[in-house]
Formats: sequence, C-alpha cells, structure tokens
Amino acid sequence: MANGKRIYSFGGGKAEGSRDMKEVLGGKGAGLAEMSNIGIPVPPGFTITTDVCTAFYAGRGKLPRDLVPGMRAALAKVEALTGKRFGDPENPLLVSVRSGARVSMPGMMDTVLNLGLNDRTVEGLARRSGNERFAWDSYRRFCAMFGDVVLGMKPEKKEDRDPFEVILERKKHAHGVKIDSDLPVDALRQLVSEFKAEVRSRKGVAFPDDPMDQLVAAVEAVFRSWENDRAIAYRELNGIPSGWGTAVSVQAMVFGNMGEDSGTGVAFTRNPATGDDTFYGEFLVNAQGEDVVAGTRTPQKIAELEARWPEIAKQLEGVRARLERHYREMQDIEFTIERRKLYVLQTRTGKRTGHAAVRIAVDMAEKRLISREEALLRVEPMALNQVLRPIFDAAKWQRAGKEGNGLARGLPAGPGAATGRVVFFASDAEEWKARGEKVILCRHETSPEDIRGMNAAEGFLTAFGGMTSHAALVARQMGKVAVVGCDALKFDYPARVMHVSTPRGDRTLKEGDWISMDGSTGEVVEGRVDTSPSEVHQVLIDKTRSASDAPVYREYAKLLSWADKARRLKVRANADQPDQAEAALAFGAQGIGLCRTEHMFFGEGKIGPMREMIVAETEADRRKALAKLLPFQRQDFAGIFRAMGSRPVTIRTIDPPLHEFLPQDEAGIEELARATGHTVEKVKARVHALHESNPMLGNRGCRLGISYPEITEMQARAILEAACGVAAEGIAVVPEVMIPLVGEKKELDHQAGLVRRVAEEVFAERGRKVKYAVGTMIEVPRGALTAGEIAETAEFFSFGTNDLTQTTFGLSRDDVGTVLYTYLENDIYDVDPFVTVDRKGVGQLMRMAVEAGRRTRPGMKLGICGEHGGDPSSVEFCHQIGLDYVSCSPYRLPIARLAAAQAALKEAAAAKASRRAPAAKRRPPARRAARRAAPRRARRR
Ligand code: PEP
Ligand code: MG
Repeated sequence: MANGKRIYSFGGGKAEGSRDMKEVLGGKGAGLAEMSNIGIPVPPGFTITTDVCTAFYAGRGKLPRDLVPGMRAALAKVEALTGKRFGDPENPLLVSVRSGARVSMPGMMDTVLNLGLNDRTVEGLARRSGNERFAWDSYRRFCAMFGDVVLGMKPEKKEDRDPFEVILERKKHAHGVKIDSDLPVDALRQLVSEFKAEVRSRKGVAFPDDPMDQLVAAVEAVFRSWENDRAIAYRELNGIPSGWGTAVSVQAMVFGNMGEDSGTGVAFTRNPATGDDTFYGEFLVNAQGEDVVAGTRTPQKIAELEARWPEIAKQLEGVRARLERHYREMQDIEFTIERRKLYVLQTRTGKRTGHAAVRIAVDMAEKRLISREEALLRVEPMALNQVLRPIFDAAKWQRAGKEGNGLARGLPAGPGAATGRVVFFASDAEEWKARGEKVILCRHETSPEDIRGMNAAEGFLTAFGGMTSHAALVARQMGKVAVVGCDALKFDYPARVMHVSTPRGDRTLKEGDWISMDGSTGEVVEGRVDTSPSEVHQVLIDKTRSASDAPVYREYAKLLSWADKARRLKVRANADQPDQAEAALAFGAQGIGLCRTEHMFFGEGKIGPMREMIVAETEADRRKALAKLLPFQRQDFAGIFRAMGSRPVTIRTIDPPLHEFLPQDEAGIEELARATGHTVEKVKARVHALHESNPMLGNRGCRLGISYPEITEMQARAILEAACGVAAEGIAVVPEVMIPLVGEKKELDHQAGLVRRVAEEVFAERGRKVKYAVGTMIEVPRGALTAGEIAETAEFFSFGTNDLTQTTFGLSRDDVGTVLYTYLENDIYDVDPFVTVDRKGVGQLMRMAVEAGRRTRPGMKLGICGEHGGDPSSVEFCHQIGLDYVSCSPYRLPIARLAAAQAALKEAAAAKASRRAPAAKRRPPARRAARRAAPRRARRR
C-alpha cells in the first residue's frame, strides 16, 4: 500500500483511481475508475484495495479497524451522487458487492447483489419503483445470494440441491407455475420469510437486517472467496500468485428488470470470433445480468437495440467508440438500461479467437491506434494455429460432444481438426485413401515404417507416446492432426477393433467407423464432424484460392511480414521431402534445419535394398545394397536442394536403430527372406540380433555410422553428388551435413573425416566443387559438456532438444505419457519438458554449449531442430541464448516467426526500460514482489 489509502471512490464523471491501478483496484475497479474519468456513465461506488485483502488474511479474517468508517464515508459520496440513502426506508440505496483481481478470473469468486434490502427498505423500493413485484423479487434474490455467499447456505452433501432452490421449486409447484417470473407477489413475500427461516434453522443465526452489517459481512465474504476451491484451482492453472489478493467494488445497483423500459446486455466492441469491426452483443429487455448468463430467455442481437431504443443505441455506440479509442484494444462490456438510462458496469479486454486476434491487431495498427510492434505483441503465437489449420464448425463440434459421443482425450500433438474412418494399419490407410476414403490411422504407436500410411491419413490417434513421439513429430512435420498418448485405447489388431474406456462405459470401434478429433485440445469423438481447410492453407498450399479473395490470409501475411522485420532469429524447417520443403517455403522457411534421412528409406523401391543392406553379412554385400539406394537418396536430396535454392539445407546422416527398418511380423520376414535369398531362420536371427533393450540409447546416431561406415559414405556421396548436380543447373546450393548423437569429439572426427574424404572424391569425379559444412547435433549431455572440444571439428551445432531432454531427464520420450500426466497433475513439472525447453536443466546445457562452442569457433552457426523450435517460450529462450536460427515443422513456422519477433521486441523493451531506470531504483518484477507479500501459498485441495 504505497500511500495507505484503502478505499477509492468513483462516479459522477471522476474517480480517485485509474486504469493503471489494476494491482491495487483489481481489473474491475480500475476499469470502473477509468470509465468514470473519461465520462462513460457508470453507477457510482468505491473500490476496497487488494492490500485490504492481504491485511484481511494477515489479520486472520478480520477487516482492518479503520475500514468500516472509511466505507461509511465512501457510501456518503455515493448517496450524494444518487440522491438515495443506504438503509433509508423511503428511498433506499442498494449496492452490489463484487470481487475483482488484477487479472480476470471469470466466475471464480463471489458477488452479492441488491444489498441493503430489509423488511423496511423493500417497501420503500416498491413505492419508489411503483413496482411491488420487482421489489420483492429483488429481495428474495438478495436473501438467496447473501445466504449462499455470506452465510454459507450450501448443499450439505453432494447429492443435495441448493437449499433455496428447493424452497423455490416447492413454491412454484404449489402455485402451478413453471418460471420464477410467474410467481405472484405474495409468493415472493413468503419466499423471503421461508428463506430466512431456513437460514435460522440451518445456521442458528438471524438473517442480518441492518444494511451496514450486511455490507461488512459481504465484503468479508468476497475476500474469503479468494481462497475458495474454484479460485485456487483457477490460480494454479493460470499461474496467478495467491499473494495478489482481490479487490472489492461496492457500487450503486441499477436495475435492468424494472419493466419494459429497462434491460441488460453484454457486448464486444468488435466481433470476437472474426475480428470484424462491428459491434457485437446481446441484450434482454426487463432482465438482470444473471438472466443473460442463465440462458433461460433468448437475448436479442445488439443491432436490434436501434429499433427499440434509438437514443440508447446511439449512446452505446458512442461508448463503444470511446472505449476502443481510449483503451486501444477490443473491449468486452456489460451494460444495464434502467428506465431508459444507460449504465456501463464493466469493461475489460475481450477474449477472442485466433482469427480475430490477427484481424484486430492488424486493423488497429493500420488505423494507427497501435504501433506495429504492439500489434505483434498482441497475438498469441499459438493462436495462429487457428488461422492455419483445418477447423470444425464450432457448433457442430460442441453438439457432437454434448450428444454423448465423446470418446477420449489424449495429448494434443498435432493441432487442427480431422475426421475420418478408423484404420489400424498403415498399408490400409494407403489403400483406403486410394479409394477416396478419409481415414484416421489408429495405432498403439507409430514407427518410421508407417510413414506412407501416415501421409495418406487425415490424422493419427495413438495410445502411447508423448509430445515428441514419432507420431507427434511426423504429424507436425506433415501438417497432420494427431492425438497421442491416449491411454483409454486398447487395440486388438487381429480383430481390427479398438476398445475405448469412456466415462460412459466401454465402447468398441471397428475398422471403418467414423471418428473426429481436435488436435489442439486432444479430444476425440465418435462420428463424423466435417472440417474445412483454412484460408491460409488454401492460398499457400492447395493453391485453390487467390490471395485477393482471401481476407484472412492477407491479414495473416501482413502481420507476419511485420514479424519478419522485427525478428533477429532466422527460421528453418524440419522437412525430408520436396513437397514438405515447398510447404516450408510457403510458410517462410529460410532453410532446412533438419532433413531426417531415415524417412526417405521407406519410399517406393527403397525399403527393399535398405533391408537387404541390414541383413547382409559382409561389407561387400552391404555395399552392393547401398549402391542400389544411392540413386534414390541422390534424387531425394536433389529435389530438396532444388526446392530450397540458395538457402541452407542441413541433412542428417542416418539416426534410428536399424531394427526399425526390419519387418517384425512373420509374413514380412518371409517376404524379406524370399527377396534376399536368405533363409527365414537367418532373417529371424538377424532381427533378433538387432533387438535392443533400450534402442534409443543403443546402436543409433553416429554409432551406426561408425559401426557401418559404408552407410555414411553412401549418404555423403548422395548428398554431395546431388549438390554438384543441382549446382550444375545454376543453383547455388548450400549443403550442411549433420552427424547425430555425438557425445565425444572422436565420434565426430571419424564421421566428419569420412564425409570430407567422400566429398573430395565426388568433387574430383564431377570436376566441380561446392561449398559445404560438416557439423553435429548436440543432443546428449556429454556433447553439451564437451562442446568446446567438439567445436574444433564441428562447423555448426544444432541442438536436438528431443533427445537432449530425454537424456538430461533420463525420461523416455516415447513412454513418457503416464509419468507426465502424474507429474503435471502433482505440479512436479510445470509444463511438459518435451514441449517447452526446460530452461533450468536442458537450457543450462544449451547455454554452456553455445558459449563453449563459440569460444572455440567464434561466430559459429548455432540452431535448434528439436520440436521445441516451434514452441513460443522455447523460441524466446533460443533468442536469449544467441542461437542463429530455430528449425521446426513447416506448419509451425508462422508461430516461430511471430514468437521470434516477440522475443526481439521484448528484449528491446527491457533494454530500454533498464536504460531509463537508474540501477539503484530498479524494482523486482511485480510477481516476485507480490509473492513475497503472499498471505499464504495456495495449496491444491
Ligand atoms: C532431436 O533429438 O531433437 C532431434 C531433432 O532428432 P530426432 O527427433 O530425430 O531424434
Ligand atoms: Mg535426436
């Protein structure tokens, strides 16, 4: 409490507080103060500060002694402005008592309305309003609300109903009416005394009659509601410190239910779904705010206000324009019309869809309401997903869930909407797709072997694996929808069914059944819910729409062009096929940061020679098989080089353990035996020999290339021959050969030596040289710890944060599902470390490697190609530690571009602020300061 002031008044065109005082007055209190200051019609009132909340908890639930006199003084100002008096039986002032934290916590805390009513003031209200029914209806609502919030009249057992609801139902039944408003005045009177009698019988206390007693008790109750279970859970979910506390706003009541000349409504200053610059909202005639929320009557559109009350419509339009101009942001307002007089009760920044966020930011910047930098900072990078991915019609999707078709929920690994028929095998996905069917590939898990089927599917659903499992990263790379780690699924492949344990009991889905899933939330439902491609996709990828008739695309493109100017980090894509490279370019890639060559071995005609190579017993036989693969690899690389032109392309040598390429089933083994001329026993023995207990920690990465140097040789040859070939076409290719899983400099020396020797051979054969680089992935802790030494050989580093996270945490990236749920649930991890870089552990290794690498090799090129490269917080971290680029799947590039711009803008703003603030006066960040003042740490209950 900077100045010790505990109560701030507002109303009558002025206020003691302002919009900058959210920390003290809460969002609601600051909004009310600001609106008063700028001449918006606001019922007068006062706000009790969040510091009083802190003092309330420090004083073990007692209000500071001087608060009540302060409240009386503040009430006197409200009385003067309204001409009414608190507790006056002739002309009573009634107030609302509402909570308001510095960030909105919708519905989490408590509110009391119509406070100040008792058996005397209700008569005054009836006389003044000329509406007895309205007065008694307000009174019975007040008794129920006060009873619930302040006196704790809650259901006693979870099977019980609200005690006041039970009495109300009984009364309606006795009068033979269905809705509350059909009850006669006498019944409302009886309700009041029955409610009070119930309070006495259950709580053994009299319902307080004195308005000041009511007010003090209500203020205390609202402070107490800061620590109710809902509020605690909400704070935990949203990272809101318990030390912030809530403010309480006490405000003169205005009534939208005073008759046909009154009403209430909510509105957004722009359309929150599309971002259209049109007033968007609803109102109800003769109703209170809670009637709009309860949804028992259908509200009218705001546009219809004009016909009913033209002067109010005009005034409200003025409020809209005023608020937007003033806040320079889309506002969400609540208003009440009392006898044709308009009051605004609340204004706050309106929530919006991703589409609307882009549109509003761009439009406001174009109209110079905000700067381009502000526009960039206003769009959540992840919200771009909504602009990029296929979408469900929201109403249809909601209906599907409500109709009891919900099946399960897994990890949201590949955002977007997908609907299709269930298939269980990758080969079926291909066949069904060829017949024109839409399919969703459902598997316990996927492997590189499934790659073609995955390409044919609309999306993948797996029972197993985390956010960096095979299915998850392939989904993001291909732009497919994926829900993974959905442990409610049990597969019976031979019967071609999957059993799903749902809250409604077990369901069995067979091949061909329709399912739909939302890869942004992880929800899966039974049945077909149609999707449509995004406008951006239609313009950039499908090329079925021109930019000129795609307004959403144009705004997206504009925002990203501003982002590109603001960012320092470059963005590259993880792509291993020419079509992915093209998608990457469309989404703004400045290079390829990771081409995983293993996926290429599953293409047409390639898996045969690959398997032949793996089962070969001699080097000579291996080389023979590799010679068959060489032209395929060369062609694939040439395709990517052509697509990328003079942009750098990082190609990684083979990484996964070899057994992943071999068939595991009897039929596949027999076929391989036939194709290679080996006996079935011999092939089985080879499959068995390659089996490893921990394949992710086994013979993979550079270890394979060292065990079988001829594989690296073939790949190096394919890369460099392709580079020479494409260079001969006049394209200035920039190949970068990347060696995976290096933890020891000598591993890299071995592989780099081999690549360089092959390069010299190819250049001599082709009579042409191309500039190329050899570098490594830093993806095991030893690699990071000895990065200084490794940089003597490596010309670049790319952080493989999928493996680096796996090996730093000692947590299998493919089996992490159940552990992760438990850890997140118990707050052991704040976030999934496979999604967002763990700055403390993995991040520290990265930072060390950056410093050591550049110490050895000044100016060394550094990037990241783990899945974190498309996660906004991780992108920010990469900016902070000085990487040159982030690489992510094509569909996440726009997110990375915006996140990189935001990182640069935030850094510039922080530097500017620290130049302005002399060192001695620099204050700790608000959150930390607040935590230190915390009354007590909220605990999960
Ligand atoms: C990584 O480990 O971060 C990486 C990019 O490689 P992969 O996911 O292919 O193991
Ligand atoms: Mg890796």
